[in-house]
Amino acid sequence: MPGPIIEKPPMQTSVTPNLVDYASARDAFSWDTAAGMLTGLPDGGGLNIAYEAVDRHAIGAAANRVALRCLRKNGQTQEISYTQLRDLSNRFANVLRRLGIGREERVCTLAGRIPELYVTALGTLKNGSVFCPLFSAFGPEPIQVRLARAEARVLITTEMLYRRKVDRLRNALPNLEHIIIVAEAGRSNIPDTLDFHTLLSAADDQFTIPPTDPEAWALLHFTSGTTGQPKGAVHVHAAVLAHHVTGRLALDLHAQDVFWCTADPGWVTGTSYGIIAPLTIGATLIADEEEFDAERWYRNLQEQRVTIWYTAPTAVRMMMKIGLETTKKYVTGSLRFMASVGEPLNPEAVLWGQQAFGLPFHDNWWQTETGGIMIANYATMNIKPGSMGRPMPGIEAAIVRRNGSEVECVTQPDVPGELALRAGWPSMFRGYLGESERYRKCFAAGWYLTGDLARRDADGYFWFIGRADDMIKSAGHLIGPFEVESAFMEHPAVAEAGVIGIPDPIAGEVVKAFIALKPGYPADDTLQRSLLGFGRERLGPAVAPKALEFRRTLPKTRSGKIMRRLLKAQELGLPEGDTSTLEEAP
Ligand code: ATP
Ligand code: MG
Repeated sequence: MPGPIIEKPPMQTSVTPNLVDYASARDAFSWDTAAGMLTGLPDGGGLNIAYEAVDRHAIGAAANRVALRCLRKNGQTQEISYTQLRDLSNRFANVLRRLGIGREERVCTLAGRIPELYVTALGTLKNGSVFCPLFSAFGPEPIQVRLARAEARVLITTEMLYRRKVDRLRNALPNLEHIIIVAEAGRSNIPDTLDFHTLLSAADDQFTIPPTDPEAWALLHFTSGTTGQPKGAVHVHAAVLAHHVTGRLALDLHAQDVFWCTADPGWVTGTSYGIIAPLTIGATLIADEEEFDAERWYRNLQEQRVTIWYTAPTAVRMMMKIGLETTKKYVTGSLRFMASVGEPLNPEAVLWGQQAFGLPFHDNWWQTETGGIMIANYATMNIKPGSMGRPMPGIEAAIVRRNGSEVECVTQPDVPGELALRAGWPSMFRGYLGESERYRKCFAAGWYLTGDLARRDADGYFWFIGRADDMIKSAGHLIGPFEVESAFMEHPAVAEAGVIGIPDPIAGEVVKAFIALKPGYPADDTLQRSLLGFGRERLGPAVAPKALEFRRTLPKTRSGKIMRRLLKAQELGLPEGDTSTLEEAP
């Protein structure tokens, strides 16, 4: 249901956009040439993410610029300059070296968005070890599974998280030799653990990053677990080139920007764009330790004078839910660009951005496996609300059909198929930890097959249809849940919609919608009938839901994605499967 196109004036702001002429930028682009934007380790020592993110700025024009501004839970603001971040991460690299932690060995974190997390990430990368962030709201079971799968040798966590979650796991984790505790105040004295700040103060703030092979392992990220058990995707130091390039081209990041990526570093977005990309550009990064709260977020945008904001559809929908009156209380005029990732962004949400902030949200698409943004609505591009945009320079995307080991590209516009990417971009994952066969099966004939279904229109815009696992087959139609959910989002009473297929003796499957209402709307029969009618009117009888159920909230992953497989399992009375990433209902 393509809506109106949002056209962009040629020059919107005082900042010159990084990507203007898409066709020539794509034609001229090569990863080899782009590598010139990075510095590389001195004396031909290879490529290290932390050097590109921090050290090269600490000896350049950005040395005293704020690299990281942490908004702490206690209301304080903590600022760390590029030079300070270099020294702190040097100290942490020395700590790891002293502990005997070597190359490609895994260093995990279980912590909120506190400064120590960022220092750990960068210090780990300097030491050539693998940074593996775990989301701090995980319970003990998912923590244990991930630490064991990562074969973590070191865990950095906070006093509170240790006592609540980690203490009881210690005997079950023989590989985990060191636990480093960030104390809430003063020093931690938990037995058999080390104190983060004591180690850091004792360590030297000089560290020479050893030669780093661009293909050496750097990052381990577990996927969101939306479709099943989370997979551990491995990324290498070379990925930093894609972080940098996509930060510039897809998010329009410039050195003078104040950038707020709301994702937690426990997920790939929170590391690729919540740590690495903006630092490689020399920008100022905002990290808010608090959890989502719509008013707080408006206040952050205003007080921090955020220029570029990267968030997720679920947060946008929550902000839409509280209405435009709240929006009007805040001055968010410093914003230049807003982007979203993680789930399809309903056209309604794109347009709401214009009403609330005077700017549309720019959707972009990527996965844990791709390591960085692959398809995007970049700043100067005319937006077709509901489309995830066009492939970034350096990225070849196609709609394909698999046929055994053959892959056939769909050349006609608007024909659905699997979204595939030509293998070989720098941030492509290099493996699923411990699952080589599964990794191998993601590739065929030089393509990486994403498991998402999409279509490309005649203008080269890509439209997300659904995950292959979520597609609904009803009376010969292939229905993507996103299309149905987006239609419901246009109804004034609807805050969130999740759509699944349920078995039907005649149609094979029929569509069922789960709806969470905005405050003030009663979940009664009248509204249910009216919404079913609304669905039929918008979507036609073949695609519209036959059944509709109200839910207070929809089950979501902790990274904010609607878990349709769980709605389905609950509906059909089937086992719920891996729920380690399920967010607790508020
Ligand atoms: P798992 O692979 O464990 O089931 P996951 O796929 O949700 O979890 P992520 O790698 O965090 O884990 O998410 C990537 C997926 O999120 C994509 O494959 C796609 O289905 C969805 N996604 C991300 N961005 C967008 C977008 N802009 N539009 C539509 N879908 C998106
Ligand atoms: Mg996935």
